[in-house]
Amino acid sequence: MAVNKRHSNISVFVPHMGCPHTCSFCNQRTISSTAAAPAPEETDKMLKEAFSRIPAERHSDTEIAFFGGSFTAIDREYMATLLSAAAKYVFCEGGFGGIRISTRPDCIDEEILILLKSYGVTSIELGAQSMSDRVLELNERGHTADDVRKSARLIKEHGFETGLQMMVGLYGSTVEDEMLTMREIADCSPDTVRIYPTVILDGTHLGELYRKGLYKTFSFEECVSLCGDMLCYFHNRNIRVIRLGLHAEDGVENNAIGGFYHPAFAQLVRSELFMRAILRALKNNSPEKLEIAVCGKNTDCAVGHKKSNRKRLTEMGIPFSFSVDNSLTEDEISINKEVYNVFKITGDARL
Ligand code: SF4
Repeated sequence: MAVNKRHSNISVFVPHMGCPHTCSFCNQRTISSTAAAPAPEETDKMLKEAFSRIPAERHSDTEIAFFGGSFTAIDREYMATLLSAAAKYVFCEGGFGGIRISTRPDCIDEEILILLKSYGVTSIELGAQSMSDRVLELNERGHTADDVRKSARLIKEHGFETGLQMMVGLYGSTVEDEMLTMREIADCSPDTVRIYPTVILDGTHLGELYRKGLYKTFSFEECVSLCGDMLCYFHNRNIRVIRLGLHAEDGVENNAIGGFYHPAFAQLVRSELFMRAILRALKNNSPEKLEIAVCGKNTDCAVGHKKSNRKRLTEMGIPFSFSVDNSLTEDEISINKEVYNVFKITGDARL
């Protein structure tokens, strides 16, 4: 359990013990022996402590987040006791803003939504992962794309904030499958999206396939480029991408044997978007020198992760300069006084 200050979430990890599924990427069988389920009293104690520690004026911006997968698939009685412990700190005077949960698309129905609402749940995220039935089947998800569409619709109809999570580079997934997933997820009109490039963990079916040389996927660069296109696509449809890449604390660093883990994955993708804009300017005008400006917040992305964009320009032999111009928005980059929106520049005509 931990307080996530950046997102104003109080996170409670609920391991999905005894999950009957065997998703290709999941190592829950490996971690279930180490991850203990929180007792309701323990949850109450932790929330009580957080309630008194977090300043009262920040309570309404703070949510209690039950993380760990399929919240609505855990034992119903245990789920109710956890929700009950949390609801106390949402419905009291000056209480927290709400409760977030994440679950599987086939573990949502009217009855559970009414129950969740009665306990103060405000936001539900679904692990869609792919919208290709073939990819879902190959990765043993045990649900279909239609389950995602139906559940997302129900969640929205019941007035919850709706989040969808997708994975990039699952076993058997092609670029076309990734684009289909992106479009279909956007068509569900979620409020938020999380994009998780696949990380191959030890002790998973993907891990076995990978070791046998049977799991071939995109190159790391192609994955970054695909995620850049996705970021543009969702941004242009006013869908917030609230996560790009797995957190280091998700236990991936020690268990990853392949795939697309990088501690600064989101920055790599944003850097790529800024580089695309620079390349576009070069292609359009063939300038002798590049004067590049971004707002202060975007300096790191513009020069690139570990200065990758700066190095690339140096290798190309073009004189350039970077400067800060805080009249530019976070979406913009100015190149030789011409302003580009980085989210409007995609890498491929496939969008
Ligand atoms: S990812 Fe799949 S196997 Fe793992 S806990 Fe969730 S539903 Fe179960």
